[in-house]
Amino acid sequence: MIQAGLGLYAIAIPALLLVLLASAEAIWPRRALVLGRSPRWRTHALFFVSNAVVGRLLSFLVVVGVAANWAEVNQFGVLHLVALPFWVEAAIAFIILDLAVWFQHFLMHRNPLLWRMHAVHHSDRDLDVTTALRFHPFELIVSTFYKSAIVALLGVPLLIALAFELWLNANALFNHSNIRLPRRFDRMLRLFLVTPDVHLLHHSTLVDEQKHNFGFALTLWDRLFGTYQAESIFGAENQKIGLAEIDDARPSAFIWSMKQPMT
Ligand SMILES: [Zn+2]
Repeated sequence: MIQAGLGLYAIAIPALLLVLLASAEAIWPRRALVLGRSPRWRTHALFFVSNAVVGRLLSFLVVVGVAANWAEVNQFGVLHLVALPFWVEAAIAFIILDLAVWFQHFLMHRNPLLWRMHAVHHSDRDLDVTTALRFHPFELIVSTFYKSAIVALLGVPLLIALAFELWLNANALFNHSNIRLPRRFDRMLRLFLVTPDVHLLHHSTLVDEQKHNFGFALTLWDRLFGTYQAESIFGAENQKIGLAEIDDARPSAFIWSMKQPMT
């Protein structure tokens, strides 16, 4: 029963947010798209369908339904060692999980095998809300097991694990979106959160810029570890997106994208 409910949240909330952000992109676009919407959207819709089962649902069920549930039943994990108020537990869990996700993303860019999987996400020649769906199933499987281990070791309560998954999904959709935020609002927001312009730099074709702004929600970690960069050396408007070695339309094809880690 609980699993069915989780599945509904896992799909319905991000789907609603996706529609809202896609509408905002149509009204306040940040940049003109190189390959346009339709071929990419078709491919990313296929990513969504394939990942809905392998990734998203599996991730929610394993991370929340299995790992958090198991830790709760067995009173396992660091958070069960001391009795803390719920909101303190929630704050600690959110901060540590966010750091863990930052570190995972950092490793994706460091380890050659992990990079093969993550490069599928980076091969998109444009950035919009649908790029947040573009993760190879291999990468989602790796990140599901990684996050489950952290959730179990920490003993994150089920409700908090669920809220974090939704929070992470919402941030991924937001920071990939092609929305022009008012400059001052962006400056203020990015003191804490990864805005679309902050994440845009991470998708630069310049390898050095890809090794900056690893954060998905908080900008704190990049600021702390010296990997924060405010803007591309070319400026946000003129910065090129994607992988330097793939400058054609191949990434907008689904089958090519699925085979990309094996080439
Ligand atoms: Zn990346």
